[in-house]
Amino acid sequence: MIFTAPGPTYRDAPDDISLAQFMLDVDHPYRPLRKAASPWLIDNHTGVAWSAEDIRSRVHGLGNSLKLGWTLKEDDVACIYSPNHMEYPIASWACHRLGMIVSPANPNYTTEELVYQLQSTNARILFTHPDSLPEAKTAAQIVGLEHTSIILLEDLPPRDISHGHPVVDQLVKQGLDKPPLYVQAALRPGEGRTKLALLCFSSGTTGKPKAVALPHFAIISCILQMSLSQNVNGPDTKNQRYRSGDIAIGVLPFFHIYGLVANVNWAIFCGMSVVVHSRFDFKEMLRSIERYRINILFLVPPHVVLFSKHPAVKEYDLSSVRACNAGAAPISQELTGEFYRALPNARLCQGYGLTETSTSVSLATTTSYAGTPGSAGRLIPGTIAKIVKPDGTLAGYNEAGELWVKGPQNALCYLNNEKATKETFVDGWCRTGDEVTINEKGDIFVIDRIKEIFKVRGFQVAPAELEGHLLKHPYVADCAVVGMPDEFSGELPMAFVMLSEEVKRLVESSPEEVDRITASIKKHVSDAKVRYKWLEGGVEFVDAIPKNPSGKLLRRVLRDRAREISRTR
Ligand code: AMP
Repeated sequence: MIFTAPGPTYRDAPDDISLAQFMLDVDHPYRPLRKAASPWLIDNHTGVAWSAEDIRSRVHGLGNSLKLGWTLKEDDVACIYSPNHMEYPIASWACHRLGMIVSPANPNYTTEELVYQLQSTNARILFTHPDSLPEAKTAAQIVGLEHTSIILLEDLPPRDISHGHPVVDQLVKQGLDKPPLYVQAALRPGEGRTKLALLCFSSGTTGKPKAVALPHFAIISCILQMSLSQNVNGPDTKNQRYRSGDIAIGVLPFFHIYGLVANVNWAIFCGMSVVVHSRFDFKEMLRSIERYRINILFLVPPHVVLFSKHPAVKEYDLSSVRACNAGAAPISQELTGEFYRALPNARLCQGYGLTETSTSVSLATTTSYAGTPGSAGRLIPGTIAKIVKPDGTLAGYNEAGELWVKGPQNALCYLNNEKATKETFVDGWCRTGDEVTINEKGDIFVIDRIKEIFKVRGFQVAPAELEGHLLKHPYVADCAVVGMPDEFSGELPMAFVMLSEEVKRLVESSPEEVDRITASIKKHVSDAKVRYKWLEGGVEFVDAIPKNPSGKLLRRVLRDRAREISRTR
């Protein structure tokens, strides 16, 4: 059967405006939702607050300077490689004003990982932060970006002014001193459906990370669908979880779709003020909730674990928190129970979605206290779903299979990757690679993942990426990487390795070599990859990697083995 979204009828989003116009301009019919007069962004550290007017003016100033100083064209890509920052959305919206595409990158990426993203997207400019500058400079050099194409979101300390990189604040000031130099990229009716706004990275169901092509229309649609689902500022004030004037924490990384679309654009669209945290520090998060009387938390499961178990929780007044939106990975019913003991006044509401769906597929409904326990919510308006069973037929209620979803929030394709696009985007449907059931009330339950990727603290790890890298190590003849269950991180990368003949003989004659070999393999990964991809689940030596007769890796066998090992540890 085809499952439809419960609740109000969804009206199509505008398809002739950009995300920046949608968020910043006042001349379209969706404007009234954002009625809060409170600031849009607050810097957690300094308390500096920017109103809508401040932000519009900064976006305009930066856009003007970018037009003046660089030969940027429509659809050129700007990569943002930075921790969360007040200037992050400014840079993003300024690029959209110029018709450019934004590609956010994890600020902890190694040079090698950043080079991969810059090359895959053919980025023309790189916004970064002083903390990420060394890697940014090396990567820029490798891909042939000029020194002045690296723009800092914040200046280095005064003693270092010789760096010669443009700084956003200076560009804003210079841009505001000049008459308008650009005409905002205007979209023809329907153009928003194909004009790209974001290139976020995801591995999809298989293979290495790929650039997900997200048009303006998809993101604007997702924002409107989420608002409708959550009855934001709607007439039914009793069942409102999120309200204009709320204060939301901004601790989720802005480079991830959940951070950028939900925690920044959607929250601001709903009229919330977002308190920007430059990095995750749990005690700082608690202090911030108390200091700013934060009402809304956007979380991933490891945060929920900390709220449930960390002793410092008792030391702070967290009574202002009313709703917590948690997504990106599963949360068990047991954990939800523990969470409520720590924050009895707050609703913990799960949402589910993918980068390939601009963030959201389903959200907990607002008509019950916090949705159905253990459920990832119900389809958001405008979305339909089908569940394909292993035999290819469609599932009915409570039958498990792979979830396929269709809605205006779906991405267009994977950039420059026809094969992966064809596998994932089929006749307007997006194959999620997740195994789910849906009950008669429409509650979705995520049971397992069919796809290769696994998630460490909410971040995707693509086994293919790590396996390709491990095979370059001289000791490794064959390998497979899977996620090992972990209470805090959800999963941790674990490698099954078949050693080369020579090294195998060495281990047989001197078993004490095992530790050195393990350390060397782990280091090979930690030297080249961002922390959450490190082999913290361990390295297990095997005689052979299990494969079926046609050579396909039997990943499920290894995942079961990893589960067993984690139980015995
Ligand atoms: P990403 O593209 O990084 O957002 O990852 C999307 C994947 O995260 C989904 O396909 C799921 O496997 C997983 N995911 C997201 N939300 C949930 C949730 N509420 N419960 C279980 N898994 C989730």
